[in-house]
Amino acid sequence: MKIIHYRDKCIGCNSCVEHSSKDWKLNPIDGKVDLIDGKKTREGIFAKEIRDDEVGGNKQVAKDCPVNIIKVV
Ligand code: SF4
Repeated sequence: MKIIHYRDKCIGCNSCVEHSSKDWKLNPIDGKVDLIDGKKTREGIFAKEIRDDEVGGNKQVAKDCPVNIIKVV
């Protein structure tokens, strides 16, 4: 499973950082959040593999993103 972050559409609300500061970090340069250790897959889109025991927590993070730009697939 992996997390996909459509970073271009991030509004920097910080919800994901509050859930998990080990995975998400606010980037002070543009006010958007970075997926820590995420690999760029296409322009503005980042992804990283997660363990099975991390899926549930990350699904909650995705659900709470107000602009729906975090996917767990
Ligand atoms: S919850 Fe969504 S919009 Fe808010 S900072 Fe995280 S990725 Fe960006």
